[in-house]
Amino acid sequence: MKTYIVGNWKLNFTVGEASIYLHKLLRKMSNYRDVEVAVAPSTIALQPLSLQVDRHKMKLCAQNAFYRDYGAFTGETSFNQLRGVADYAIIGHSERRYIFGEDDKMIAKKVAAAVRNRISPILCIGETESERAFGETADVIQDQLVSGLMDIAEDDIEKVIVAYEPVWAISSVKAAKLATPDEIAEVVRMIRQILVETYGAEKGEKVPILFGGSVNSSNAGAYLTVPGVNGLLVGGASLILSEFTGIIEVAKRVRS
Ligand code: PEP
Repeated sequence: MKTYIVGNWKLNFTVGEASIYLHKLLRKMSNYRDVEVAVAPSTIALQPLSLQVDRHKMKLCAQNAFYRDYGAFTGETSFNQLRGVADYAIIGHSERRYIFGEDDKMIAKKVAAAVRNRISPILCIGETESERAFGETADVIQDQLVSGLMDIAEDDIEKVIVAYEPVWAISSVKAAKLATPDEIAEVVRMIRQILVETYGAEKGEKVPILFGGSVNSSNAGAYLTVPGVNGLLVGGASLILSEFTGIIEVAKRVRS
């Protein structure tokens, strides 16, 4: 399985800034067979960047889209419109769940819409600090994972990536804490078990599981060597070119 490094730029960079960043990033990158790199710019930048990106070196990821392909949905962009523009899409990010009120039903529809439009969904799941404190982590993970994948056909699981992002470890959250390798390994094991139980060993073992939460170039090595972790979803550190390229270098080293 490849190692995935995905940078989530969130609501940062104008189209011009995103283009300059991508230009610099592409110059620093070569084609790594075992490491798949993607960046997720704002929706407005996806189309111009899709003309600029060298897909042999890296891919583009959407941060969000709507689950209906077209219609009376003012202000929305559909996965259908992103077909051929984005290769991946982050779905179910905690900021979408808790700031924009997206529930598991909507997330499931978005996962299905992405798959339908040949965009690989990166389904984000993770417990809040209080859910962990109340011992609810396993239930939250089970609920978010199973319901997020509810609307796709069994065979389509091979297009899905799962990202474990404990909400309390995301750098923009007040008083964020670093997740320990043991805490991550335990949840990643649960995720793998659910995938194998639901889809069988052959398909369930192939789904990449990423970790996200305050990853930077100094801790990327420790997180990438957590048993069961197949890559990283990087927020804040992906905005700093030297940090993001540092993380990619670590991924290459870990894989070689
Ligand atoms: C994220 O929001 O997906 C994320 C992982 O952010 P950060 O790396 O800044 O914690």
